[in-house]
Amino acid sequence: MTEFNDRPLTQFAATMAKLMNVEIPKQADTNYVDEVIKAVKEKTGKETVDKMLIYNPDAIGQWFFEKYNHYFEPLKPYLDIRVDYLTAFPPKTPVCFGTMFTGATPEVHGIQAYVKPVITIDTLFDSLRRANKKVAMVAIKGQSIPKIYANRDIDYYLLNYDKPVVEKALELIENSDYDVIEVYNQQYDDIMHMTHPKSIFAKKAAKNYVKYFVKLAEAVKKYWAEYNTFMTFAPDHGTHREWYGLGQHGKNIPKDMNLTHLYGVNVKK
Ligand SMILES: [Zn+2]
Repeated sequence: MTEFNDRPLTQFAATMAKLMNVEIPKQADTNYVDEVIKAVKEKTGKETVDKMLIYNPDAIGQWFFEKYNHYFEPLKPYLDIRVDYLTAFPPKTPVCFGTMFTGATPEVHGIQAYVKPVITIDTLFDSLRRANKKVAMVAIKGQSIPKIYANRDIDYYLLNYDKPVVEKALELIENSDYDVIEVYNQQYDDIMHMTHPKSIFAKKAAKNYVKYFVKLAEAVKKYWAEYNTFMTFAPDHGTHREWYGLGQHGKNIPKDMNLTHLYGVNVKK
């Protein structure tokens, strides 16, 4: 029997805020993941970092990460901190990302179903801007993250799919001076709905997330070498296979609710 994880995803926002030395979003859970702060301090001598690359691959649950752990092996040189969370309920994309960047529960941020209104409470993006951090969001047009976090004082780069998103993010890492870049990819979620979470096509999509992250991390190593950069592989929820055969998510079950995030720091030269 798999149990539910204890640590709520509401702790993500405060943890990132602490690391960037900015205010915790106003309605966020003020608990943060102390192990992460300690791990960063151990590597850099400081509890804060200079820059952040937040990679958000959609729909990789903890069970998938554990069952196909070898797929994630290429992430190890970059991401050696693991944090397991319980995501927000219902485990649908806008609900979970709504919690991730506000640090608030769905009741508080207002998205409690698969709907994509603009979130009106304080977010990590707003808090970063109040501290004058430059923020870029590189995501897929019309998808949850850019819709629910629209109208912020950040730069939006909205593209057609995962590959152009990654290409744009690579370009920004090389040629811009953003402090925080958020990158969203979704192919695994799409394919597991059309097939199921363990289909060969879905597995291929999960491997693509890993391949894309490695490209981003290599760019960070190369172009952001003079900064301490915190990097994440931070999905939103898990998945399961329904009785009718297709992949799905949205239930209060460990397969959908348990999440593994991987974090690391590229330490400056
Ligand atoms: Zn999702």
